[in-house]
Amino acid sequence: MNILGDYDLEARLKQIRDVIFKNVPPEARLTKVEFEGPNIALYCEKPQVLLDDESVVRSMAKQIKTRIIVRTDPSQLMPPQDAEKLIRKSLGDEIDLENIIFNEEEGEVVIVAKKYGPIGGPSSPLLKQIAQQTGWRPVFVRAPPIKSATLKGVLSLMSNEGNYRRDFLREVGQSIHRPLIYKNNYVTIKALGGFQEVGRSSILVETASSKVLLDCGVKPGAVSSLDEFPRLDTLDFDLQELDAVIISHAHLDHVGFLPFLFKYGYRGPVYMTRPTFELMALLQSDYLDVTEKGGKKPPYGVNEYKKALLHTIPLEYGEVVDISPDVKATLYNAGHILGSAITHLHVGEGEHNIVYTGDFKYADTRLFQRADTDFPRVETLIMESTYGAKNDLMVPREEAEREFIDAVRTALEHGGRVLVPVLSVGRAQELMIIMADAFNKKLLPKTKVHMEGLLYETTALHMAHPEALSRQLRDAIYYDENPFMHENFDMHLRIEDREKLARGEPCVIMAPAGMLTGGPALDYLKYMVEDEKNAIIFTSYQAEGTLGRKLSKGAAEIQLEDENGDEKTFKVRMKVIPIEGLSGHSDRKELVQFVERLRSRPKTVIVNHGEPRKIEDLAGYLRYRFHVDAVGLEILDTLRVYRSRSRGSPESRRMADADPPEGSGPISCISLWGSATGLGARLAPRYDFEGERRCLDSTLFPGEALKD
Ligand SMILES: [Zn+2]
Repeated sequence: MNILGDYDLEARLKQIRDVIFKNVPPEARLTKVEFEGPNIALYCEKPQVLLDDESVVRSMAKQIKTRIIVRTDPSQLMPPQDAEKLIRKSLGDEIDLENIIFNEEEGEVVIVAKKYGPIGGPSSPLLKQIAQQTGWRPVFVRAPPIKSATLKGVLSLMSNEGNYRRDFLREVGQSIHRPLIYKNNYVTIKALGGFQEVGRSSILVETASSKVLLDCGVKPGAVSSLDEFPRLDTLDFDLQELDAVIISHAHLDHVGFLPFLFKYGYRGPVYMTRPTFELMALLQSDYLDVTEKGGKKPPYGVNEYKKALLHTIPLEYGEVVDISPDVKATLYNAGHILGSAITHLHVGEGEHNIVYTGDFKYADTRLFQRADTDFPRVETLIMESTYGAKNDLMVPREEAEREFIDAVRTALEHGGRVLVPVLSVGRAQELMIIMADAFNKKLLPKTKVHMEGLLYETTALHMAHPEALSRQLRDAIYYDENPFMHENFDMHLRIEDREKLARGEPCVIMAPAGMLTGGPALDYLKYMVEDEKNAIIFTSYQAEGTLGRKLSKGAAEIQLEDENGDEKTFKVRMKVIPIEGLSGHSDRKELVQFVERLRSRPKTVIVNHGEPRKIEDLAGYLRYRFHVDAVGLEILDTLRVYRSRSRGSPESRRMADADPPEGSGPISCISLWGSATGLGARLAPRYDFEGERRCLDSTLFPGEALKD
């Protein structure tokens, strides 16, 4: 790091120190302050002083523009055995406690329980009381009524690798608060994957000081690796130089390639919502499994997969975090699948705002509220266009639901079986809710619905996050009328039962893959396809080149592997019923409505995640309707979406290589150059207490020096 760099970090530290010294009451007995990812952690011997009156922390956070977490100094933590006894006693039996995990590194105790019981919610006075009595910071995790191995695995990985994670978070913090050497004068967007196509989504956003990657997916069913993965090979810098990766949601075409970054040297943070994190853990390990079983070498191994998990920083919807010296990120509900997010990036001091939709649904569904449109500002919108063509209009939801139930009932009444190919996450759970409702209203005869593959686990994860679901569904789960637990649902299938089910009693079978690109659905299909009593119902997008597309377009014959693994031609005799109104994507009308309802009108719209014809169609209409600059980039195109007006002037060149003037600093370090310190700070006396150097390396403050 150069001299200018060191100087800047110190100025930032000084600013943080000043605010903390001035505000933390001495009776809190502050011992240490550390960067922890995008947050700052205060360690206190008497943290309750700060916890009792949250206004102090709130005011400090506002002044230094960074989230503050209050932790107990390790010397003050009650021994775990005693703390566990006390926690069990104060929570009682009502919460159906499953596990208590102590995370000593972070002074956290994770309470895993089935019910909120007397706790009520995350900001419960009871949790505060536990914090005061034990010193441990309680975190409540709701255990789903069926056990999720993923959830358990993720929790134990995090607690076993506590040391690694703590070092990593500290490094991330230092990197975010590093000096901004160049005043930002441009923002570019580079198309790496998911442009003029659906699959391998990946976008690079670059400013003078930061590089942020949005999504990193694979393209299932692609023929060559040049088409299968994002074109990271074309980047003219090392992956280590990336500041952050943000993942919109857990579908493989948005996250499947993430661990590859860790194979080639990336060691920075990955931001996503907590449900996305858990789903990703599950889907990626399955992807490794399936790829290997399919006789292909996966692009990364288990170690990189674990690294990706350990480097993830989960965010809440609406939480604003610094992810680099000049970029702030916030995630918003996208309404597409559990945990799915629209990303808002705020560059510099309001110089530019980017909204990346990822996949989104702009309509209420059984599972989720519609996507958010309430972003403070947006100049560049990057939006999906899966159903972007003029005639991509879906029937109203209620009608589509009725169609689906009618199709299922008709097949069952004719003594047939119904196969519904689904992605493991998304449509499957939506269809479960629709069917549970139809069973309760007697619109369907009492029939078993069998769930294959990962559906057991992904459904469990939905139940673990009622807060991320639609209000109605959340309340149903809270009040123990959980539709996912309907008595007709069977989630305990064995591979050897497949043929028996497919040829047996009338029933419904939901099985991945959603586009019939592999998975157990193919097994069922070969047993069912030649019986005209049976039906197959498609409820999600079928990409070009997939078996699902071929079948839904009316193919009379298909090729499938038979029991001996030999390719065999099957006649299509079963009924093929595509139903489009149940998608987790927005249709054309909803895509346009979304743009219309944005709080501020973007200048540029980049249309991606769609077939070329749909992109062209939607972009053309947006230009006509909203007078915006709407384009569909090709892979490897780079678009400059912002340039400073004074670019190239003597003034701006001066800013780039000399001390930035007052008020021009990054938003994350607003008063680094601002009026509080100003340029005069360079001449101000240095903080000269013991351990200053050390504090630059590891912690913001040396522990001892703060006590007096
Ligand atoms: Zn998706």
